[in-house]
Amino acid sequence: MFNYNKYKEIADLIEKNQRNTEIVAISKNHSKESVLQAINKGVRIFGENRVLEAKDKFISLKNKYPDIEIHLTGPLQSNKVKDAVNLFDVFHTLDREKIAKLFSNYKEKLDSKKIYIQVNIARESSKSGVFPEHLKDFLDFCKIDNDLKICGLMCIPPMDKPPEIFFKDISELANKNGLKNISIGMSNDYEIALQYNPKYIRLGTILFGKRK
Ligand SMILES: *Cc1c(COP(=O)(O)O)cnc(C)c1O
Repeated sequence: MFNYNKYKEIADLIEKNQRNTEIVAISKNHSKESVLQAINKGVRIFGENRVLEAKDKFISLKNKYPDIEIHLTGPLQSNKVKDAVNLFDVFHTLDREKIAKLFSNYKEKLDSKKIYIQVNIARESSKSGVFPEHLKDFLDFCKIDNDLKICGLMCIPPMDKPPEIFFKDISELANKNGLKNISIGMSNDYEIALQYNPKYIRLGTILFGKRK
């Protein structure tokens, strides 16, 4: 079930504060029916973590609703790059040279899309992402060696610590590297994330309920 009241409440909060933030409705592990409910309420931006699941749900929906935007918010495997480039509009999780190199084979397609680099902001072994101290080199590799346009940075702060310091760190890291956009904030911390003026907040549970 899609919770439109909650969606509207958060959208209104964003508007009241005159932010340009967009809500990515994370529909992973939720049914196509739930996605359709959201579409019928006017939601147009969705996020999925797995390429196959996203294809199953969204290829037909995208034909019917060409204005929906699909974001990849999970890690991308090299053998899925081609499918991913065909389906997704925004990539939140670029973090490996191998994938950047493969992306460069699809330059024309990717020029109309947006790529974010995932930063492992707290250097957690359980998380993917580029370590902050390696970001500059990785950005150069993407931009200079592979001619990719990079839009901004994404991170997921540790579960067991207050998120503020990590949101602040990722904002500063983006600024320092001349990047304007950040993708931060999930169901538990989006209110705090909004104070950092993110381009995207990524909301799953709060909009669609608990995942199976
Ligand atoms: C699952 C997921 C979300 C949504 O998480 P919720 O806590 O359910 O809002 C956001 N971003 C990423 C990268 C995710 O994997």
